[in-house]
Amino acid sequence: MTGAPQAAESREDEERQAREEREAGAILTVDLSAVADNWRTLAALAAPAECAAVVKANAYGLGIARVAPALWQAGARTFFVAHFKEALELRALLPEAMIYVLNGLLPETAPDHAAAHLRPVLGSVPEITEWSDFCRDQGADLPTAIHVDTGMNRLGLSVDEAVQLAGTRRMLGFTPSLVMSHLACADTPGHPLTGRQRAVFADVIRRFRGVPGSLANSAGTLLGRDFRFELVRPGIFLYGGVAITGVPPLRPVVRLEAKIIQVSRVAAGETVGYGAAERLKRPSRIATVSIGYADGLFRAAGSSDLAKGVEAIVAGRRCHLVGRVSMDLATLDITDLPEGSVQRGDVAVFLGDGISVDDLAARSGTIGYEVLTSLGARYARRYIGG
Ligand SMILES: *Cc1c(COP(=O)(O)O)cnc(C)c1O
Repeated sequence: MTGAPQAAESREDEERQAREEREAGAILTVDLSAVADNWRTLAALAAPAECAAVVKANAYGLGIARVAPALWQAGARTFFVAHFKEALELRALLPEAMIYVLNGLLPETAPDHAAAHLRPVLGSVPEITEWSDFCRDQGADLPTAIHVDTGMNRLGLSVDEAVQLAGTRRMLGFTPSLVMSHLACADTPGHPLTGRQRAVFADVIRRFRGVPGSLANSAGTLLGRDFRFELVRPGIFLYGGVAITGVPPLRPVVRLEAKIIQVSRVAAGETVGYGAAERLKRPSRIATVSIGYADGLFRAAGSSDLAKGVEAIVAGRRCHLVGRVSMDLATLDITDLPEGSVQRGDVAVFLGDGISVDDLAARSGTIGYEVLTSLGARYARRYIGG
């Protein structure tokens, strides 16, 4: 193949990207090399346990089509999604990956899972029966995972059911490839439930002699060797969310810049935005930015006379939101910036330059997971380091 058509293609790509960024109200940059580095850091920490990658909910909102291949390139071979539809999308991207579907087997979908070589994580007796029957019917041992509930009381077999299953597993019609459970409080240091879940899981996995076990999510991976078993399942740490502090050096992954579409002067005593929720105490300059709650900037991030809103960086300085966040717009107080330093078309940085996903989350009354998975569909997305 000659270089010329490729060069033309990449020039077209560049032009399309530039147009999208020009036309969008806000730009989300995802650093794929940071995702890959974070996976490698966790894989090194977890070894000899295998390090999987959790890419449910569109890779935590960052775009599975770009993130999953980057993780595969970094060395990840086992992937977890929540929904069957997500698994199908991932299968098209990664023909050779081992793909587990955390939400389990929906009725009458066993043939669809088998056709795409997907492994539903079976978490109830009816699911196991349906998979067993299908395997017998096909005369095929289609291995998949068993989920045991060790104290979260959300999903999985009860411990009693799991113990019984371990005793009769020769009659299953398939060979479990993994027995897993999920920690409820891994990110709360010293929570007593964590140790109890580990002990219960260790007892269950012992009875499934020879079947690999998996208990740890991101935070669980840091709890020590006792929690890692044969496979760890990090999600949030790959994407620059840090569920607890003092962790290995993980890199930030996302940068969110919203465009300033108007700069105005407002007199002291005037109010800003819906509900007149914030009254200005001084003559102010206000930058109106093209981002709102429809883009995942939570309404709870807004400002009022009672509580200051989140910060964004404009012209290198931190500025507070002023007034409520509306659907498509937010307003920043730029009074302390030098006159003329902010123009229409400049950007306000809501994530990046020292503002982490968890900072924005904490100041919006939520968690980094919700910030990431709420990232808006209207952003122009820019992938770097791929
Ligand atoms: C989402 C999820 C994970 C990943 O959790 P993080 O806290 O993002 O690392 C692991 N296991 C299960 C069962 C999950 O649902």
